[in-house]
Amino acid sequence: MSTPLAPQILSSSLEDLVTLFDVRPSDSALPAAERDALVASSPKFGTVFTDHMARVSWTAADGWRDRRVEPYGPLQLDPATAVLHYAQEIFEGLKAYRHADGSVWTFRPEANADRFARSAHRLALPALSVDDFVASIAALVRTDEAWVPTAEESSLYLRPFMYASEAFLGVRPSLEAEFLVIASPVGAYFSGGVKPVSIWVDTQYSRAGAGGTGAAKCGGNYASSLLPQVEAQKHGCEQVCFLDAGTGTFLEELGGMNVFVVRADGSVETPELTGSILEGVTRSSIIALLGDAGRTVTERRIPLADLLADIESGAVTEVFACGTAAVVTPIGRLAGTAFDHTIADGGPGAVTMAVREELTGIQTGRVADRHGWLRRLA
Ligand SMILES: *Cc1c(COP(=O)(O)O)cnc(C)c1O
Repeated sequence: MSTPLAPQILSSSLEDLVTLFDVRPSDSALPAAERDALVASSPKFGTVFTDHMARVSWTAADGWRDRRVEPYGPLQLDPATAVLHYAQEIFEGLKAYRHADGSVWTFRPEANADRFARSAHRLALPALSVDDFVASIAALVRTDEAWVPTAEESSLYLRPFMYASEAFLGVRPSLEAEFLVIASPVGAYFSGGVKPVSIWVDTQYSRAGAGGTGAAKCGGNYASSLLPQVEAQKHGCEQVCFLDAGTGTFLEELGGMNVFVVRADGSVETPELTGSILEGVTRSSIIALLGDAGRTVTERRIPLADLLADIESGAVTEVFACGTAAVVTPIGRLAGTAFDHTIADGGPGAVTMAVREELTGIQTGRVADRHGWLRRLA
């Protein structure tokens, strides 16, 4: 069963925590007119970055120190830096949203902070406090507030990450680490309306196994998902869905998104967290919103064979994927070596689109935040 994403409370006010960050302004910030034009051009995901980055350094001897916001720029790494050899690295993904009154908010950052701490534990990296995680984001967003887009469905994507920075080839946890947050303005994920994607169900490769790092958000999981992703594209699909590594029969998730199944009777199912699935903040939020709407949401192991039979019979009417970057993405087609199924009429389903609308509405301030998920950053 799922352990709900623990609500973590900051130890003091965000105002006080942000003052711990020393802001070192860039002397090569993009001129305002150029910046505004760039932000308004709805840049492709992850290609444009703001003027600054937040950074905190760690050593085993001194702990976390030197909290700062500094000019965005290249990192200089010794060729022996541990992360380059043993992939001791974790990351997060969340967004800052501009509301109609100009204020800037983020969504459930404590849940990301909590997951980051769990990922750090699994990768033998030092724990970063929820205070430092949330304050680093607030410090960066305040410094680069002008980069938060205003257009509908646009946001400032935030990428906190931590890597083993000790220059040492021995195999043991690094005694030094760097934590950074970079920020990237992004336009609507689907330009010209939400379009369903095709999914390749991979039976050759797996993403994560029992006891592995599947529940941690680490770069290594993504490295192993890239080849299957290329295979999916060869089969005319945009994304890959992985099955459980143990038996190859149960639905797990996509390379970077969780999955949901909507049944004709209105109930909803999602694969239960078995230790090899990443617990999405979007997943947990959708479970709550669907529950609020009176739907039965079941977390269980979903056999692929049953899902395919239910799609054929019409007992399953919608399948969708979810994650911070794309929010909610309808899945129109599931294909594999022995099958190729269109789900219902292949178009976006009503339940999928309603939950997408509600979630983006809360994030952007159009719908009441009855769960208290938003945190004001600026
Ligand atoms: C980040 C991620 C997700 C989605 O998580 P969100 O918190 O909803 O963004 C799902 N699966 C994997 C493998 C991920 O890395």
